[in-house]
Amino acid sequence: MADPRGFLKVTNRETAKRRPVEVRIMDWKEVYEKRDQGTLKQQASRCMDCGVPFCHQGCPLGNLIPEWNDLTWRGDGKGAIERLHATNNFPEFTGRLCPAPCESSCVLGINQPAVTIKEVEVSIIDQAFENDWVQPHAPERLTGKTVAVVGSGPAGLAAAQQLTRAGHTVAVYERDDKIGGLLRYGIPDFKMEKYHIDRRIAQMEAEGTRFRAGVNIGVDITWEDLRARFDAVVVTTGATKPRDLAVAGRELSGVHFAMDYLVQANRAVAGETVENQIIADGKNVIILGGGDTGADCLGTA
Ligand code: SF4
Repeated sequence: MADPRGFLKVTNRETAKRRPVEVRIMDWKEVYEKRDQGTLKQQASRCMDCGVPFCHQGCPLGNLIPEWNDLTWRGDGKGAIERLHATNNFPEFTGRLCPAPCESSCVLGINQPAVTIKEVEVSIIDQAFENDWVQPHAPERLTGKTVAVVGSGPAGLAAAQQLTRAGHTVAVYERDDKIGGLLRYGIPDFKMEKYHIDRRIAQMEAEGTRFRAGVNIGVDITWEDLRARFDAVVVTTGATKPRDLAVAGRELSGVHFAMDYLVQANRAVAGETVENQIIADGKNVIILGGGDTGADCLGTA
């Protein structure tokens, strides 16, 4: 813990600024501006390096939060990304998309606003990419074993990267035309621009992971064939079945599932031609559900 009194000196929580609305509506780029390093260090200094860091329990990945808060406070970006990557393959995804249960678990939150853990996380990885600190880690030797990963969302990509680095020969299968799963076609660019996915895929390809987009396992290749071709198969498919509502009027035109709307919008933003695209222009829109998906629909509409 670099500054034992940091949380007493900096009591306010300062997060990245949003780009002005009049600028944001002109494009689909991310909402938040780049984080200023000075403010970030100050915010990281608020971490108390708790004896029992409840942020660890809150984080599904078990991220070593107090360690990289401390390294960020000290200005050791290289050390911070090394500790962050120790538990998290893709902090640029989680730092933008995760609802941050670590912050709800932060002990400082008892009598002050919680540490801005998510912002520190995303700033560490952004700085690492800017400085070319994120390099491929190809395995030193191959095991001779082959693994198929079915599904190229964050779970599939993380599994593929770990297995490749362990020396296995890994192929990732994706039924869509591009790799990324929900990251590619579910999450709007204003939350996470797609270049974040592309540069990770480039890193993974350089490590030896192979990608096969546009292959629907169970249709183009049977599961039996896949199992016969590979020593192991990892299933990391998403759940694409929406939960319908049995309410009067559900069958009326103009009532859509979020994932139909968002996938089309993501394809359009990527420059693809989308036939019969669901467009909200000039319409009054009601969104049922106020979670992340609802917020994505709201921002897109
Ligand atoms: S719970 Fe909060 S204050 Fe404690 S170590 Fe984690 S981030 Fe730091």
